[in-house]
Amino acid sequence: MLIDNHNRKINYLRLAVTDRCNLRCNYCMPSEGIDFVKNDKLLTIDELIRISEIVVGQGIDKIRITGGEPFVRKDLMVLLRALAKMPDLKDISVTTNATLIGPYIDELKQLGIKNINVSLDSINRETFERITRRKQFDTVHNNLIRLITEGFNVRINFIVLEGQNEQDMIPILDVMKHHNVSIRFLEEMPFNGGSKNFSGIKWHHKAILEHITQTFTEYIKLESPETSTSVNYKIKGHTGTFGIIPSFSRTFCGSCNRLRITATGDVITCLYGKPKINLRDIVRESNAKVDVENALLKVIGSRAKTGFEAQKEHSTTVFDNSMTSIGG
Ligand code: SAM
Ligand code: SF4
Repeated sequence: MLIDNHNRKINYLRLAVTDRCNLRCNYCMPSEGIDFVKNDKLLTIDELIRISEIVVGQGIDKIRITGGEPFVRKDLMVLLRALAKMPDLKDISVTTNATLIGPYIDELKQLGIKNINVSLDSINRETFERITRRKQFDTVHNNLIRLITEGFNVRINFIVLEGQNEQDMIPILDVMKHHNVSIRFLEEMPFNGGSKNFSGIKWHHKAILEHITQTFTEYIKLESPETSTSVNYKIKGHTGTFGIIPSFSRTFCGSCNRLRITATGDVITCLYGKPKINLRDIVRESNAKVDVENALLKVIGSRAKTGFEAQKEHSTTVFDNSMTSIGG
């Protein structure tokens, strides 16, 4: 079992499988993209499987596949098939922009992978295209509806962006009123190539809740698991729920159970801090199992207590990299 130096149990891995993406969401990447890493620097699918096996052996029982866009990676299903066979892995989930998932929906269902987070920041075509800088609205819409109707546990991630999609917060709740989905409103983090500083955002978690509850006055706060990053609510008459994730304000660090591994093998013990070690060379060595286990034990044994503490590891900008390298 992985326990950090603040006595937090680490059982959740966010595993990025690529830094590439077919969209260019303006809060995530500059329009020209970033310097994507060369293929030989990425962990191979076999290495991703090997690392997953090792961490599951150490007590990780939930893995979320993220990126970049995971489905850009043609061999993604090989990894998912392998994960689905790991008996100690209780929860496999995927975070996706839902542009490329269509052909894989049937197999995901067969594999029992039901938890899909879809990033969707607008239900208006123009706003969607302005934010993502690509014309994929219909594909995303169709795939989202298919995922919902086929019974997946769908959560929609909606980042509230000042001057861009504020006007869609209420409509998305209305449109999804009769669907069993959870819509999670996220605070924006300054991960877009460094053009924003960390001094403040208009749409912090309190402002988002106030805005929503001015329209939907009858709602209740739901009980959430201790490790949940979202505070969740149910509006009277709505089938699904909504949640608010204070990704910028970081009120959830006390119960953080997460570990992140990037597509190049960097281990990140706090989203706001710097990578602590790289596993790529270690997993390529003959003594991989023991060495990966020891490397993880070491970095988990010296985790920052909060995101604010971890943030001090950066000398200038907090996030000099795109979220696409880290996976959210
Ligand atoms: N491409 C996939 C997607 O968009 O769902 C997975 C990778 S994406 C980097 C993972 C999550 O990070 C998404 O939910 C996205 O909305 C979130 N994200 C990206 N940039 C962000 C930012 N600046 N602030 C907050 N969340 C961000
Ligand atoms: Fe791509 Fe996801 Fe980043 Fe959008 S948020 S550019 S879909 S990685």
